[in-house]
Amino acid sequence: MDINFKDKKALVRVDFNVPLDKEYKITDDTRIREAVPTIRYILDQGGAAILMSHLGRPLSKLNEDGTVNREKFTLKHLVSHLRRKLKARVHFADDCVGKSAVKKAAALKPGEVLLLENTRFYPEEEKGDAEFAGKLAALGDIYVNDAFGTAHRAHASTTIVANYFDKQHKTFGFLMEREIGNASRAMKNPEKPVTCVTGGSKVSDKILLLEKFLDYADNILIGGAMAYTFMMAKRGQVGNSLVEADKIKIAKEFLKKAKAAGVKVLLPRDSVCGDKFAADASVQVFPSNAIPDGWMGLDIGPSAAKAFARTIRASKTVIWNGPMGVFEMPAFAEGTKVVAKACASATRKGAFTMVGGGDSVAAVNQLKLAKKVSFVSTGGGAMLEFLEGKELPGIKAITG
Ligand code: AMP
Repeated sequence: MDINFKDKKALVRVDFNVPLDKEYKITDDTRIREAVPTIRYILDQGGAAILMSHLGRPLSKLNEDGTVNREKFTLKHLVSHLRRKLKARVHFADDCVGKSAVKKAAALKPGEVLLLENTRFYPEEEKGDAEFAGKLAALGDIYVNDAFGTAHRAHASTTIVANYFDKQHKTFGFLMEREIGNASRAMKNPEKPVTCVTGGSKVSDKILLLEKFLDYADNILIGGAMAYTFMMAKRGQVGNSLVEADKIKIAKEFLKKAKAAGVKVLLPRDSVCGDKFAADASVQVFPSNAIPDGWMGLDIGPSAAKAFARTIRASKTVIWNGPMGVFEMPAFAEGTKVVAKACASATRKGAFTMVGGGDSVAAVNQLKLAKKVSFVSTGGGAMLEFLEGKELPGIKAITG
């Protein structure tokens, strides 16, 4: 952020899409805390911050009479918490555009904050409407995007609004810089050996990621349900495990490409299997290519976990996306736990380890290992797309 904010009004896109309980109390304020350094920096420089964000999906959850449920989705719920975190005056505009927003933005003094109402109260937001984006843009002198989690969406407040500012008047916030910086560090000239770990439920969700990994990985470890589609591609018997029959061919081709590229692909040698998809299933370990009918692979087995951990610990760069099994059920969480601990151990030995995109983040948080890896992305789908090598509209709108 090499812009001087003194006496300027910064229009900041934050991601304040926080979970709220029935009384509208914030149950996890991570996203607010993550945004504080950027806002504080602007205020400390003598600027003012006009914050815009979405909260939930108000237009998909309308009241019975077709009106927007303003009470449920208003960002007003966040104001007092924000005041405490920022230790600043925080005003609230009950509309993100229109008279009240314009008036309150104009009256804002250096060191003060104005939180605008939920941008998704307007269908124009998700449509990326240019006129609506123009109204938002008119509220500030400088545009700051610090909402990495929505950077893969070409919405009005995340992308289109940036078109109204020249290069000297738009920038990323610190959170966004950190996300982009860490993912780029992992993908561009990473220190070798590089190990990419993927898991989760579907090959179809992760195939683009796997293909991209071929560009820079030395090892690719595949766990989760996706491993069984690969097992089928290698003519294994996977019993009742989750398989995407229409992706077997793609899996076969991927293994061929990896071989040609000299990238080592590790599939789980054994699996912890259940006789049903349930926490109280009977549990038995089978070789992953010889799972009897009536059993389904729900976690990588102990021998596979050992092999995965050994590879991770010997790596200098690790990128991990997706759990190794149904980690939500304790009987099938061990593989994910072993991988998380191996990442922590590699980090201690000086490796750069990054966990990003989806459920593996929940897993490292659950295991309280988030502080023991180099970087945990808040990005979800945005990080997945970034790692896939896609150009994110929210990033391009700033960098040009
Ligand atoms: P994803 O959102 O694609 O990262 O998938 C995460 C989900 O995959 C988690 O909810 C896991 O419970 C699930 N999962 C992981 N391994 C398996 C498996 N072997 N069988 C079924 N579901 C799995």
